Amino acid sequence: MNLRIGNGYDTHRLVEGRPLILGGQRLEHPDGLGLDGHSDADVLVHAVMDALLGALSLGDIGKYFPPTDPKWKGADSLMLLEQVVALVNDRGWQVVNVDSVVIAERPKLKPHIEAMRGAIAQRMGLDPDQVGVKATTNERLGPEGREEGMSCHAVALLTRP
Ligand code: MG
Repeated sequence: MNLRIGNGYDTHRLVEGRPLILGGQRLEHPDGLGLDGHSDADVLVHAVMDALLGALSLGDIGKYFPPTDPKWKGADSLMLLEQVVALVNDRGWQVVNVDSVVIAERPKLKPHIEAMRGAIAQRMGLDPDQVGVKATTNERLGPEGREEGMSCHAVALLTRP
């Protein structure tokens, strides 16, 4: 079978004193909150990476970029994504498409979706139409709804030509 599918999920806390980086874009939260984490905490890119790794049963990003390693402190997640795509390609697989949905109450993500798709696609060597980025609020329910954090679900389809 020359098709593989993977899914990824990630969540990060919203805190004061951190930048809010999503899909490689620096956004402004109305209360000045940002995502907490060892790297730049780009929850969207992390979920996409886990979907890619999951498609080939290669484990998760914690295995490749452990939060205990000072090397990855403040790391640009798009750079990590590039490395994951290289790993996939090295094994003879190509990405057909990825799709994702970010769950965040604020700020409004719609104005930034195209920039996120473009940045992710460029780093993955894909066309933007191969990269789906969607956003939803959680209707003020749960941790995302209370703005304690943001989360993201992603899927990736790979093919071996
Ligand atoms: Mg993460």
